[in-house]
Amino acid sequence: MRRTADVVVIGGGANGASTAFHLTRLGVRDVVLLERRHLAAGATGKSGALVRMHYTNEPEARLAFESLKVFREFDAVVGGDCGFEPVGFVQLVGRPYRDALHRNVERQRALGIDTRVIEADDVRRLLPGVVLDDVSAAAWEPGSGFADPSATAFAFAAAAQRGGAAIETECEAVAVATEGDRVTAVETTRGRVETRAVVVAAGAWSSALLAPLGLEHGLEPHRIQVSIFRWPAGFVHRHPAVIDAVHRAWFRPEGRASTLIGVELGTGHADPEKYEEGVDDAHVARCRSALGARWPVLAPAHMRGGWAGMIMMSPDGRPIIDRLGPEGLWGMLGDSGTSFKTSPAIGRCLAEWVVEGAPRTVDLRPFRASRFAEGRPWVDEDHYGRERLTVSR
Ligand SMILES: Cc1cc2nc3c(=O)[nH]c(=O)nc-3n(C[C@H](O)[C@H](O)[C@H](O)COP(=O)(O)OP(=O)(O)OC[C@H]3O[C@@H](n4cnc5c(N)ncnc54)[C@H](O)[C@@H]3O)c2cc1C
Repeated sequence: MRRTADVVVIGGGANGASTAFHLTRLGVRDVVLLERRHLAAGATGKSGALVRMHYTNEPEARLAFESLKVFREFDAVVGGDCGFEPVGFVQLVGRPYRDALHRNVERQRALGIDTRVIEADDVRRLLPGVVLDDVSAAAWEPGSGFADPSATAFAFAAAAQRGGAAIETECEAVAVATEGDRVTAVETTRGRVETRAVVVAAGAWSSALLAPLGLEHGLEPHRIQVSIFRWPAGFVHRHPAVIDAVHRAWFRPEGRASTLIGVELGTGHADPEKYEEGVDDAHVARCRSALGARWPVLAPAHMRGGWAGMIMMSPDGRPIIDRLGPEGLWGMLGDSGTSFKTSPAIGRCLAEWVVEGAPRTVDLRPFRASRFAEGRPWVDEDHYGRERLTVSR
């Protein structure tokens, strides 16, 4: 393993791999990416991987929009296949949130995002048989969809490697070493790597690296679940991805004949070092009930499995993407269950920051770590009922 590096990236998920790739693209050859298990071993490999632009705030919509450009042209921009499927995306909201959805769509259109408000009949055409009694408004994004999260991380890492990066799997970063107020090295299970720049993208496992540096951001690891339902006989409609804010559920096609669904209530605090990777019966029951209530044609769909993964929630449910503490340290922290779709832009911005001194692609100030100490945690004006949390979608 290299004993020195210009930049060390810790974590081989979508965000770490994207950062490593973008560093090489900006001309940094001597990048080392450390992954304690295998690529995509964390939240990324378990992700539902919705790629949608509809957020109830502008900064995340910007990150998603910049990222969509990469997902759509992945082979040309990065190389390889990220498994992006533009099945389209529908956002459904309940009665009190009609105006909020209209305002959010306007904001997104002003950014250049291809989205519009659609009527109930349009939704029925997209989701034949859907129940809309409790829905007051819907938004449509024809170019969004979902990707293969593992393939995305693998392809970013492979492209980084082609650009000169060393991808070190089964190699854990044990500590970030500092001298005075500056980063000097990373201690790993395979020895020390001297460096003056470190990017921490270690997902739900980040606190072990940050706490010894006196960095504490109120991050909490959470266990998130998804379930898969095989379509019933005769159902062959490869439907768009959907977020149903009324049932607090999201779903999308999985494979040729199934739907993958998650519900927000499928989250609980857990220890990322020893969490149950399978899906709970109670989660399957909640998914079945949310899917059947919204789309009765899928009520008889049978369960084919599911899994759980670990995400890191920040106190306001929005990521922290910032310089952290000692000189030479950056972090993508508190992914809050929503940072796969934004990983292409997050990695690019972090690489710009390290190499050029500031992020250029998207203004990252709203994601600053100091917002909590300033007493200004993130609150979306036009949220759909739970202004702080966005869980796993
Ligand atoms: C069930 C589920 C559904 C989701 N659905 C969506 C969705 O639809 N859309 C969306 O955008 N997001 C979704 N998310 C969230 C998304 O998957 C995550 O936000 C994103 O994958 C985080 O990527 P990451 O690279 O920051 O972290 P991770 O993928 O968690 O990667 C961190 C990596 O760091 C490694 N690591 C940790 N500590 C160390 C160390 N000390 N040394 C070396 N390596 C280390 C870990 O092994 C891991 O591989 C979902 C998440 C889950 C669990």
